[in-house]
Amino acid sequence: MYKTIVIGTGPAGLTAAIYLARANLNPLVIEGPEPGGQLTTTTEVENFPGFPEGIMGPELMDNMRKQAERFGAQFKTGWVNSVDLSKRPFKLTVEGMGELEAESLIISTGASAKLLGIENERENIGRGVSTCATCDGFFFRGKKIIVVGGGDSAMEEANFLTRFATEVRLVHRRNELRASKIMQDRARSNEKITWSLNKTPIAVVAGEKGVTALKVRDNETGAEELLETDGIFVAIGHKPNTDFLGGQIELDEHGYIKVKPGSSLTNVEGVFACGDVQDNKYRQAITAAGSGCMAALDCEKFLEGHMVHDWSQSL
Ligand code: NAP
Repeated sequence: MYKTIVIGTGPAGLTAAIYLARANLNPLVIEGPEPGGQLTTTTEVENFPGFPEGIMGPELMDNMRKQAERFGAQFKTGWVNSVDLSKRPFKLTVEGMGELEAESLIISTGASAKLLGIENERENIGRGVSTCATCDGFFFRGKKIIVVGGGDSAMEEANFLTRFATEVRLVHRRNELRASKIMQDRARSNEKITWSLNKTPIAVVAGEKGVTALKVRDNETGAEELLETDGIFVAIGHKPNTDFLGGQIELDEHGYIKVKPGSSLTNVEGVFACGDVQDNKYRQAITAAGSGCMAALDCEKFLEGHMVHDWSQSL
């Protein structure tokens, strides 16, 4: 039995853990398969305030974790299979840990990289198809790479991959890019980046040694074409990680957790959400961290008058 359990260890979950631990609520923090969240798959973070020279994503997350531990947050690794939010204390079934109970819950499970859903894509993950340039870019030294997507992630990954590749081709399904102007300008001024716009990916082509091409269809002419490549980096956004909630928390039409505007309150009393799992708009490390702080403060206030367990015996 815990006063509060934080699920997820990105900037939102770790910030919540720092605040909860400093409020003597002894949070249990459950780390999933990607400890530290999306920032651990990125390189340099230049826009997190307080680091004038920038900081590497993994280092930033490691610092946040240490800060939470310093104040007594407990960390355990596990996969939350399901939750029962029908009454308090809430019940969590966690792989490797069995059943846990908590007076309150903070959900900060973030979002995962989306795939295109085209032929041969999933089968070739690790054989040339990747969703993480930082993790896999190194394997493509001196090779040709395709990045799919038209948002900031695609621009960032394409730029980063030019460190390794001889050529990076950006493939996007429309003529207009969704990315911010500064990121577009950076990519456009990079001589190693070439462009295939208004083309829809339809299949990954692979041989015995892995990926050899991406098959695309021109949206104007309908003509199909094979773009030769050694690797395909899919950078088309993310899906919020909410499957384990089993429909017990209200989601919006894109699957993000709905919170009461200006707060971290979900439709279930005692359950709070923060970070990318509830943010379809800003999705920045700093906004995630800010929302983690909000969730901790909301949770702290909630627990003041709503404990169901007699904690006086436990201390
Ligand atoms: P995003 O902005 O949602 O862009 C996703 C891109 O993938 C879009 O161009 C979209 O095409 C394309 N796409 C989606 N589904 C597709 C499909 N099935 N087939 C082909 N293309 C598909 O996602 P993001 O780039 O990951 O960025 C997410 C958020 O993080 C944004 O707010 C962004 O500003 C932020 N971010 C910031 C930075 C930075 O500032 N350093 C870096 C990375 C991300 P359409 O345009 O046609 O919809």
